[in-house]
Amino acid sequence: MTGSTAATADDHALAARLATETGAMLVGLTRSSAVDRRWSGLEYEGDRRAHLQIVDALAAERPDDIVLSEEGRDDPRRLGAERVWIVDPLDGSSDFGYSANWSVHVALVVGGEPSVGAVAVPGWGTTWATDPAPDLVPRDVESGADPRIVVSRSRSRYDGMRLSQALGADVYAVGSAGVKAMSVVRGEMDAYVHGGGLYEWDSCAPVAVARAAGLVCCHLDGSTLEFNKSDPWSPGLIIARPGLVEDIVSVMFDRQY
Ligand SMILES: [Mg+2]
Repeated sequence: MTGSTAATADDHALAARLATETGAMLVGLTRSSAVDRRWSGLEYEGDRRAHLQIVDALAAERPDDIVLSEEGRDDPRRLGAERVWIVDPLDGSSDFGYSANWSVHVALVVGGEPSVGAVAVPGWGTTWATDPAPDLVPRDVESGADPRIVVSRSRSRYDGMRLSQALGADVYAVGSAGVKAMSVVRGEMDAYVHGGGLYEWDSCAPVAVARAAGLVCCHLDGSTLEFNKSDPWSPGLIIARPGLVEDIVSVMFDRQY
């Protein structure tokens, strides 16, 4: 071991640059008249081009590292690798071309820890990263106000009802995991609660950024998140302001699957 596996300042900068550049390419694609939009053609082309842009750049800039991408083939060498990039080239792709609610996720897991991450939300003109870390916006309303919680669109009815009834939460629903997580980072929401499973590429970069901003990230039962597992599927997720986590776990602990 040379010690060269640890994340460097260059890794943080590279993640942010790849997320931003890929987001810009995708915005250009939404404006292109050359893509056939029928049968989810835009979504398909966005997934494909974003994946290629990120994996080609990582192959050139980090040739010794392994990549796990939603759109790529799973490389079994990642299980023995110290450094693994986990990327979702286009998160929230069903919104791609139709709303601002999609994102690009680039994360680097070192020794199982999401050490580096960047989430670009081009519709908001911003990329959040781990270094420099975002400032967590202080909640600008009086304490004791109802928590604002964003949940998955597909689970909004039941999970949203529970959170609303038990915690008095104002509940919102969005598709993209990156957009939901960044809405907490930028202070619009107090928590993101994902009932049921998701994949590591959905959560890895958002978790890296959210932790850098001082938010707590865990499973719905409060247990520790793990990354670069043999099965990249992951039970539910909480990203929240520290003071809210216990309350959310008490309501959602049995909604992991
Ligand atoms: Mg995707």
